[in-house]
Amino acid sequence: MRIGHGYDVHRLVPGRPLILGGVIIPHPTGLLGHSDADVLTHAVMDALLGAAALGDIGRHFPDNDPAYAGADSLALLGHVVNLIREKGFTIENLDVTLIAQRPKVAPYIPLMKENLMRVLEVEEGQLNLKATTEEGLGFTGREEGISAHAVTLLV
Ligand code: MG
Repeated sequence: MRIGHGYDVHRLVPGRPLILGGVIIPHPTGLLGHSDADVLTHAVMDALLGAAALGDIGRHFPDNDPAYAGADSLALLGHVVNLIREKGFTIENLDVTLIAQRPKVAPYIPLMKENLMRVLEVEEGQLNLKATTEEGLGFTGREEGISAHAVTLLV
């Protein structure tokens, strides 16, 4: 049994779509990044790679590689799932926390879960997805960015 943790942050800027867990959320600002900047999915990938001792997403999908410009993070996640399978691991569970002052993401959580469950090939009960604010404190509180944590257990 192997535990893994992933953490990621992206900056909020005008003129970018806000994509979280593969869901496009209407919002005046979106996350800046080389890929689609889906911070939630990035934290999930880093947790999986961490548990399998396979490094991090920067190693597998370098942010200076034009191949990953605007990349769909759910597709990258599919690649990570294949990598951990090749090492003989299966996912026992994942617990994910999104940290954002705004927008309120609760209405989108079922869709995000559906997307992630499909790519991870896990069932309801193996993936927990939750969101919190930091009470107006820090960079998330000032709406300068959004962060996400993920922990996973592989068997
Ligand atoms: Mg990232």
